[in-house]
Amino acid sequence: MPNPDLLHGATWNRIDLPGPPEAGTVPLRWTEIGDGGPLVTITCGVHGDEGPWSAMAVRRALSRASGDLTGRIRVVLAANPTSVAADARTSPLDGLDLNRTFPGNAEGSHTERLAVALAEIVEGSDLLIDLHGGGSWCVNAFTFRFPGSERFADAVGAPFVVDMPIRSGNLAGHVSEHGSKIVAIEMGGRSVDELLWKDRLADGIERILAEAGALAPRLAAPERPSTQVSDLSVVRPAHGGVLVPELRQDAIGSVVPEGTLLGTVHDLGTMEPVEELRAPHARTAMLLIRPHVCVLEGGAMTYVIGRAEG
Ligand SMILES: [Zn+2]
Repeated sequence: MPNPDLLHGATWNRIDLPGPPEAGTVPLRWTEIGDGGPLVTITCGVHGDEGPWSAMAVRRALSRASGDLTGRIRVVLAANPTSVAADARTSPLDGLDLNRTFPGNAEGSHTERLAVALAEIVEGSDLLIDLHGGGSWCVNAFTFRFPGSERFADAVGAPFVVDMPIRSGNLAGHVSEHGSKIVAIEMGGRSVDELLWKDRLADGIERILAEAGALAPRLAAPERPSTQVSDLSVVRPAHGGVLVPELRQDAIGSVVPEGTLLGTVHDLGTMEPVEELRAPHARTAMLLIRPHVCVLEGGAMTYVIGRAEG
């Protein structure tokens, strides 16, 4: 009986990047399983504040399909190691956003060199699955659908799908220029439902791997197709203060009518309500929410919304 975990006993490669003076180097870890067939690379943690949920989902997806490998799967669970360790969007070593740094610079700063190393791991893949997500402050649940890669986005089964042109400078755009198909998923974040979303993401990853021919199909298609969303925008309070959310984690992935109260901002000194944040569209898709009471600065990203089709 083979071990059901495809990553069991895998050899983890490391690329040592220049780190802070006291630490020496920072290892970028990756592994590859299988041989022949299509090559699919999965990246997690390009933005370090988007949490460990996607890496947990990858481990789950690959821990239950032994013997079904029909291609090669390359895995990078912490693509931006110093920002993952710091639970920060950018590396504390240079403050650069890795996903705005491709193709990078082999003689540059930490993040610029990291971009070069990561590009080398990913280039040549038939498909890149780039996993982003919520974080300790937000939850989200949608897939970006890129031209030419639609069938992979549709295999995810996220509540929402957003059509997105390919842009250069980010990881997806960079590998697309090198001939890879791409799918980017924004699913996860801290809430009492976090493990359910992790399992749902694992199912999506497994379906994509099957669609790409890297795993034998095992799961049925998503129960319902993702709702298409357009006109993405960010809801930002004009005032800083305490956000008291009206919509909680169970609203992620839902569609709410125009005027729905999303949350109220209260003055820090008086706790008087100073601003109500409301849904602007007849069918407002809730792509990202802050499900917890929190302190916000004026202008902070508080919700990502769009117009839901249908
Ligand atoms: Zn991200």
